[in-house]
Amino acid sequence: MVASMRRLWCFLVLWPLLLVSPPAAADNGLTLTPPVSGRVIKSFDGGSSPYSKGHRGVDLAADAGAEIRAAAPGTVYFNGVVAGRPSVSIDHGSGLRTTYTPVVGTKEVGAAVAGGDVIGHLSGPRHCGSEFCLHWGLTDGTAYFDPMLYVTSPPIRLLPMGSHPKPIQYLPQATVPLPPGGAPVPGRVTSPFGMRVHPVTGVYKLHDGVDFGAPCGTTIRLPWPGRVVSARNDGAYGFRVIVDHGGTRTAYAHMPGLEVSVGQELPAGARVGQVGSTGYSTGCHLHWMAWRAGKLIDPLTLLK
Ligand SMILES: [Zn+2]
Ligand SMILES: [Zn+2]
Repeated sequence: MVASMRRLWCFLVLWPLLLVSPPAAADNGLTLTPPVSGRVIKSFDGGSSPYSKGHRGVDLAADAGAEIRAAAPGTVYFNGVVAGRPSVSIDHGSGLRTTYTPVVGTKEVGAAVAGGDVIGHLSGPRHCGSEFCLHWGLTDGTAYFDPMLYVTSPPIRLLPMGSHPKPIQYLPQATVPLPPGGAPVPGRVTSPFGMRVHPVTGVYKLHDGVDFGAPCGTTIRLPWPGRVVSARNDGAYGFRVIVDHGGTRTAYAHMPGLEVSVGQELPAGARVGQVGSTGYSTGCHLHWMAWRAGKLIDPLTLLK
């Protein structure tokens, strides 16, 4: 009951901000910096329609009274109280606005702000159960988008609460058969690599890898021999391992922990780790990335 009322609030408190909408426009390269440095308590969930259940923003941990910073340059579009919740929204001039709730704003409507400027302070009522948090949204006036997809290098630690990096563990690296087709996990592609264009708004965003649907714990196998060049918690990517194959690099994101370490030479078929959902992820999947000569490419082009 409490949870469903909170969801209802998430919707109700924000929709009056939509009444005056600038025309939708393509994303002109908007990049966002999280307004507070706290971890993600609750991720975005777009729901299946504007009226279905969902969570049309992301909840970031912050203390009561915390300074809230503009996620990008813009002008203050709204500063007031909606349904008893103080809220601020910033127009970024590209048809996209970020919203901040519950926040008591310190700038007047129309004021220009630079990215990182303090625009207000976190206030009540609490939005995350007994905790204070910021509900941070992104809208074009019609639809909601996940602001975290516009964060290029999140400064936040996004590990789920209570989780810790697993100790590095050296596994016997026997060569084993790869899944059919040479992909790192069996399973189908649930989201391809490339620019995704929203059918209504024309907002572009690069999906910088390919997603394979696979159950939590599925073994991820290295398709080609290589040397581990990075193995760490990479913010939005969660625990991510990057392997150099001699010019071409591949990466394996959202794993529950690290099982290999930098410098390790791995044969084809070696276990890199397992499918998980750390970092910014709404469920277990493998986000597989690739670079050729330092340039992002579609990893599927590497498969025969
Ligand atoms: Zn929320
Ligand atoms: Zn992905």
